Amino acid sequence: MKYLLTLLFGFFFIQSWAILPDPIQIFYSDSFNIHRAQLHDNDYEHRALAESYQEQAQIAMSYYPELKGIDIEFVRKDIKTTMAARPAMDFIFRKKENRKYKIFIDTSVKNEKGLLLSDVPFNAQVGIIGHELAHVVDYEEKSAVGVVFTGIGYLFHPYRKKLERKVDEITIAHGLGHQVMEFSSYVLNESNVSEKYKKYKRKIYYKPKQLNTLMSGYSIY
Ligand SMILES: [Zn+2]
Repeated sequence: MKYLLTLLFGFFFIQSWAILPDPIQIFYSDSFNIHRAQLHDNDYEHRALAESYQEQAQIAMSYYPELKGIDIEFVRKDIKTTMAARPAMDFIFRKKENRKYKIFIDTSVKNEKGLLLSDVPFNAQVGIIGHELAHVVDYEEKSAVGVVFTGIGYLFHPYRKKLERKVDEITIAHGLGHQVMEFSSYVLNESNVSEKYKKYKRKIYYKPKQLNTLMSGYSIY
């Protein structure tokens, strides 16, 4: 019995990790097809995303096999940050398995002087989409009440910091560490981003060096 359990556990453990693609240092738009061929899988679809972000989203999604079959809609909207992920508002009334998610893409940068998705390099776009998918993974672990608490907690910087760092750790564990690091260094080094915004980013999120240190803790990198 013990042997059987060990065998079963081993099987599921290998199953759940074997399907994650290997980390890749830099994705270029023309490396997408190579990556896809290596996956032997065309099943990374999502809803309503502009043509120009299709490849980036599908690369990012290929690192989250557990999100297959989950309803994720990309929505372009004027928000205060480059991207954001949230459950659709009716999550309170839905069973967790029927929950839908929206990933918002900012449409205009105003006073906050942040960045638009279109402003960042292809590889960093994969990184930030991967980060938003990690938010979905985090929501998937939470009950409706847990989601409400996350929404309230997010208003306060200490909680926000804790959550955003957890989400970056999920992204790294899934194999998109290089990409999330490129996004982070692009934001902090890009001259068009205001100092105020960079300061906020440094306060809440892991800095590139910290991301690099975290990555070195994983054998996949
Ligand atoms: Zn985030």
